[in-house]
Amino acid sequence: MNVHVPGLSTPAQSFIDAAHGLYIGGAWTPCDSGETIDVLDPATGAVIARSAAGGASDVDKAVAAARQAFESGPWAAMTGLQRGRLITKFAERLEELADELAEIEAVDCGKPVTYAKYVDVGLTSTIYHYYSGWASKVSGETVGVSMPGDFHAYTLREPVGVVAAIAPWNFPLVLTAYKLAPLLAVGCTAIIKPSELTPLSTLRLAQIAEEVGFPPGVINVVTGYGHEVGQALAEHPGVDKVAFTGSLETGRKIVHAATGNLKRVTLELGGKSPMIVMPDADLEKTIPGLAQAIFFHQGQVCTAGTRLYVHKSIHDQVLEGIAECSKGLKIGHGLDPETTMGPLISSNQLQKVMGYLDEGRAEGAEMVTGGGRIGEAGYFMEPTILAGTTDEMSVSRNEIFGPVLAAQGFGDDDLDAIAARANDSVYGLAASIWTRDISAAHKLAKKVKAGSVWINQHNFYDPALPFGGYKQSGWGREEGAEAIRTFTEVKAVCAAL
Ligand code: NAD
Repeated sequence: MNVHVPGLSTPAQSFIDAAHGLYIGGAWTPCDSGETIDVLDPATGAVIARSAAGGASDVDKAVAAARQAFESGPWAAMTGLQRGRLITKFAERLEELADELAEIEAVDCGKPVTYAKYVDVGLTSTIYHYYSGWASKVSGETVGVSMPGDFHAYTLREPVGVVAAIAPWNFPLVLTAYKLAPLLAVGCTAIIKPSELTPLSTLRLAQIAEEVGFPPGVINVVTGYGHEVGQALAEHPGVDKVAFTGSLETGRKIVHAATGNLKRVTLELGGKSPMIVMPDADLEKTIPGLAQAIFFHQGQVCTAGTRLYVHKSIHDQVLEGIAECSKGLKIGHGLDPETTMGPLISSNQLQKVMGYLDEGRAEGAEMVTGGGRIGEAGYFMEPTILAGTTDEMSVSRNEIFGPVLAAQGFGDDDLDAIAARANDSVYGLAASIWTRDISAAHKLAKKVKAGSVWINQHNFYDPALPFGGYKQSGWGREEGAEAIRTFTEVKAVCAAL
């Protein structure tokens, strides 16, 4: 029996209370093992639902269904324009159901419901709208060949095939859309594997896909553990590509598992994103921007601004300002519309973050504010600022994935020296630069090794902007035109005339 969650609307509560199976070939089915996985509300620790614990045999069925839908049937026969129309319908239905989806995401992931509606559902539907337009515009080009003779040469851009889309728990709807929207636009089919911690919104998404008319087998969902369902998908000879978002450790496992049939792999992995604050920054905008960059979604954001490099002349003022902002956060259950900061995702995550704080203290970092757990129920912790950190400390090097800022000052105005410190990381996902000096901002933007560089803002996402990482933050890019390329193969056709 599931727990009633106070504050949930009737549609969201009835969806959560329903029995959850797998969605394979257009049908809802139980998993072969019959086992389930508890789904917890991270704000209370209570079990709110149970998802099916899929396994390798379920993956086999899902891959067969996705293959059949890709090779034959209505999806394979559709024009790009027809696929685009369906994606638009999907996006519009997501918008109509925004309140319900935001509630599901709030209770499953610990997100403030107002943010979930604006960011998770809002960005998700924008992504589908954006790629609905792409669906009718994917094409090759004519090519002028260099060898002597008379030829007609051109390229075709064709869908890569059956895609396994493996997502993490921090933004289930958005990070699934990063994969699903472009792969649908180009005509691929998908098996989605949500995180075992947050499967609910993806299951609801599949219901909506069914309702708007995606043919059977185009979108399949297999819930379950990563080492079972995720691993089986990454190894499967019937899968043509894995599009993965998650940790670096899992990314490495996927690369190894994918070698069997040398499937295409794109990886969106972790980050340790620096924020560089120059002495001339507009502090009225910069300070709340920095606070948002680190505390948004409790710091459980791959691009969270976790390393702060701030000029010594404004160091104390900036840190005091961020601490002040952190005191203004309303920490509580995501379903409370006043809440601006929810819990961490799990007890494990809370312990992991606390472990990093202990290491930071032992290495000599100074706790400016925060550092403690809040209450006993759920997995809440205080927004935390560590000052006096150095580039060598564990808190400056590891992805903490919690609301913990590691700050340090710099006195040198040499842009190369500043960029070198920002680049001193195995990660290269994102960075932000805060200054009124346009020239310095763009010079630094060139020098920083990161897939996204933001100027006077942080955590800005748009489906038109390619997203992904340098170095160990990943392989390839999602979003924008780049995603169309990664979900297609290019065929060169050349006729002798
Ligand atoms: P994770 O790597 O533990 O899990 C991600 C997904 O992989 C889950 O669905 C999980 O079940 C699955 N998985 C686990 N083991 C697997 C295996 N052996 N084979 C295949 N799949 C497996 O990551 P997480 O804890 O869910 O998410 C947090 C991580 O995700 C952080 O490192 C964060 O930086 C990263 N992330 C990156 C981006 C990005 O776009 N670069 C965005 C969000 C999160």
